Amino acid sequence: MSVAGLCEICHENTVEHTCGRCGSLVCDRHVDRRTDLCVECTTDVSDTSRQEKDTTVPETNQYWS
Ligand SMILES: [Zn+2]
Ligand SMILES: [Zn+2]
Repeated sequence: MSVAGLCEICHENTVEHTCGRCGSLVCDRHVDRRTDLCVECTTDVSDTSRQEKDTTVPETNQYWS
């Protein structure tokens, strides 16, 4: 495999992966191996699930009354 270039996030390490979501070329340190996404997309995805959790919170209010 020939060297494609440098990681688009750190610009230091050699590209090892292509993000399955945004297509960024990233090094081994900036890919999430489970999801095969770059760290930026991994953050996007976890932010979304965090917002979904926030809307589920009101259940706790039942203990208030
Ligand atoms: Zn990197
Ligand atoms: Zn990405």
